Amino acid sequence: MHELGIAQNILQIVQQSVPDNQAADVRKIRIRVGQLSGVVPDSLDFCFSAIANDTKLQRAKLDIEQVPITSECKDCQHRFRISEMDFSCPACKSSNLELVSGRELEIIEIELADEDDEAP
Ligand SMILES: [Zn+2]
Repeated sequence: MHELGIAQNILQIVQQSVPDNQAADVRKIRIRVGQLSGVVPDSLDFCFSAIANDTKLQRAKLDIEQVPITSECKDCQHRFRISEMDFSCPACKSSNLELVSGRELEIIEIELADEDDEAP
């Protein structure tokens, strides 16, 4: 499964970025996922929870932001969002396009719990 490998990657990166004694305080991991990356957010969320459960990061949740596919037409410089996988320019029908966004797969932010709201 595609998402399982990605979830493992995310887990590894977070484990490397957060000191071991703070790992249990990680509450939220914000990531950006482009629609072209082929990642299904629900599935990624599920895989991450499953593997994080065996680690100190078991209280961490993914916050997945989906990035739409955006393209720029090289013929008329029109910028537009691609939906329905129709890869042609809506202005001039050219298929001479450059992908501007949609392939992202990155961690933006790792949020730790405040000491104040630590559950008993
Ligand atoms: Zn065009």
